[in-house]
Amino acid sequence: MKTSIIGFPRVGESRELKFATEKYFRKEITEEELEAKGKELRHKHWQLLVDQGIDFIPSGDFSFFDTTLDTALLLNLVPEKYQSLQLSPLETYFALARGYQGAAGDVTALAMKKWFNTNYHYMVPEIDDTTELKLVGDSLFKAFNEAKEHDIITRPTILGPFTLLKLATYHGSKQAADFYEDAIIAYGQIFDQLAASGCEWLQIDEPALVLDLSPAEVQQFKGLYQRLLAKKGHLNILVQTYFGDVRDTYQELIELPFDGIGLDFVEGRKTVSLLEEYGFPKGTLLFAGIVNGKNIWKNNYQETLSLLEKIQPFGTIVLNTSCSLLHVPFTLANESALETTVTNHFAFAVEKLAELNELKKIVADKQTHHELLKGNTALFVQERFSKNKHVAQQIEALTERDFIRLPVLAERATIQKEKLQLPILPTTTIGSFPQTKEVKQNRAKFKKGEITEAEYTAFNQEKIAECVGFQEEIGLDVLVHGEFERNDMVEYFGESLDGYLFTEKAWVQSYGTRCVKPPIIWGDVSRSQPITVAYSKYAQTLTDKPMKGMLTGPVTILNWSFPREDISLRESTLQLALAIQEEVLDLETNGIEIIQIDEAALREKLPLRQTDWHCEYLAWAIPAFRLVHSKVQPTTQIHTHMCYSEFADIIQDIDNMDADVISFEASRSNLDILDALKAIDFQTQVGPGVYDIHSPRVPSVEEIETTIHNILTKLPIEKVWVNPDCGLKTRGVPETKASLKNLVLAAKKVRGGV
Ligand code: GLN
Ligand code: ZN
Repeated sequence: MKTSIIGFPRVGESRELKFATEKYFRKEITEEELEAKGKELRHKHWQLLVDQGIDFIPSGDFSFFDTTLDTALLLNLVPEKYQSLQLSPLETYFALARGYQGAAGDVTALAMKKWFNTNYHYMVPEIDDTTELKLVGDSLFKAFNEAKEHDIITRPTILGPFTLLKLATYHGSKQAADFYEDAIIAYGQIFDQLAASGCEWLQIDEPALVLDLSPAEVQQFKGLYQRLLAKKGHLNILVQTYFGDVRDTYQELIELPFDGIGLDFVEGRKTVSLLEEYGFPKGTLLFAGIVNGKNIWKNNYQETLSLLEKIQPFGTIVLNTSCSLLHVPFTLANESALETTVTNHFAFAVEKLAELNELKKIVADKQTHHELLKGNTALFVQERFSKNKHVAQQIEALTERDFIRLPVLAERATIQKEKLQLPILPTTTIGSFPQTKEVKQNRAKFKKGEITEAEYTAFNQEKIAECVGFQEEIGLDVLVHGEFERNDMVEYFGESLDGYLFTEKAWVQSYGTRCVKPPIIWGDVSRSQPITVAYSKYAQTLTDKPMKGMLTGPVTILNWSFPREDISLRESTLQLALAIQEEVLDLETNGIEIIQIDEAALREKLPLRQTDWHCEYLAWAIPAFRLVHSKVQPTTQIHTHMCYSEFADIIQDIDNMDADVISFEASRSNLDILDALKAIDFQTQVGPGVYDIHSPRVPSVEEIETTIHNILTKLPIEKVWVNPDCGLKTRGVPETKASLKNLVLAAKKVRGGV
């Protein structure tokens, strides 16, 4: 059996690409120097794959920002406004990726969207009726030839026309299928040029095949590829799918003359049964995605071997990752702080290469490689950690009643109104205040042991007092402490919960040069002591206004961590929910009357297929949130916050979270969400963000007033709150102060007028 991977983390072992690109952005290095860095990394990564014994080595998976954007440029999908800037190719590329403001003009970036069910984000190509899809770039050929100079024959990878055109945004009357003809010509030319350079295989990624497809789309896909594959000549074409199974197009896929079909056996729940039901074409290679490209856990060889045994009769198998390794950290080799008893259970990108290689050896000769298998099996039989019996019992004992807060929302609203005595259109913020250099330094110094805990706390208290003073001065109604003690809304809680582990260098690309370092859920999660109570309580002593407690919800903590796989996501989330519930109740006992439980990332793990939304996700994610607040007094007001403008499609589920108040990002989407709220007669009180905190711009009083009036045309005034659209931590102090002053003034003016 041969081995293959779909793509490799291009950012580099120590995020070299990120740092070089950012230097280029700051004009500290030239275009040539950045190109040289890219070349160096590509070579290093190819060589690494060769050394690890990978047989099919991808090229074209490298990118300075995003591979969907690369494909768009290769095929001339560049809107006129960027072309007319007349910049160099690399500058044009970054103008599309990040916007451009300078001598040549002023353009915003392309939209960025979540890449399927990952935390990676791609740039959305824009197409209008004048767009000419044609082959204009050469990056793919250059990469192939570059590797060839090192005697490495790679398999170029490119995003396929079906997915590319499905993901694009259309501004004119033309739609995806109107561009198929041109796509066939362009991809056909790519086939010819690659074949002429000595290329043997091309990997065409079509992840859109794992989505829910209509019968019309299935026919479009089939027609597109029937014509395209007629042009392949001697080039071998691998159609690569990932992030799920291809139940809607499997029958079409196996009838088309592909030379290889890449299927996902990890996330593709139905992949095996599709093989069993419809078979697999003779002579076609089955690229079997068996090593998880998204998790950080070691592959269970026994399980993989039995899977392979099951699918081997269907054809010649190539051992593959389930998706690109882009979604996992680079290597475990630099994690010096974790014990080997822990790291033995992990496999990052480099270690996953070794797994493919080991599996290949074991399949070839079980006898000789007996020890490899034995060592791996041992990892899965031993207990990784001692189970938390108390948590298990708590979960066991949960009944329906634990997920229901009483009295019902409307009744609570009356009780809380009486108690809190807030004005109509109450004003508040989402939680964090600017994280200035001093705030970050204070945390860093404490972490390094340069200051004592008392000094650290005193600084934070000073900042809190300043923050509370300012909020009182401008007249906000519900105050926050400012979150100066928090680095990140998930890591902060993870650090205080048992069952969590942290890495030093396990960065994963989120978009462009931005990387995240998710904490790892290692064992049973529990809370051994209060996490936020001291600061919230302190902040409340400084004011007579209600001080909002500030927590991160269980679903968001889960979604921004690397989850366990030995228990279900549901169970992990319930453990988190119980821990956060304890914190909620402690805050309440300590006199905090309003508690916000952020679920910024609720949408993150929403399944790709709508038919799975409820049964696989919302059916436990929404109750997990309800569990967190179900035991509070009727007088305690529960808030939540979400960072999406896109949630019209799950709006009823969000209402079912049964919070008393929800704030969300809405300003950038022109408050589109209001119609969805109105349509279902949304019960929860809402604070649709009245200005965009992602920009340093200060909104005027009049502007905010207009926005509030706008909101009031769709929502009843007694249900509306006035707040910015997210936390203020990334903003500067002066613009934050000016914006919030205007926000309060605007709310007061609108109140005065009604
Ligand atoms: N309370 C958090 C903050 O204000 C919420 C952050 C978020 O929504 N991403 O920073
Ligand atoms: Zn937010």
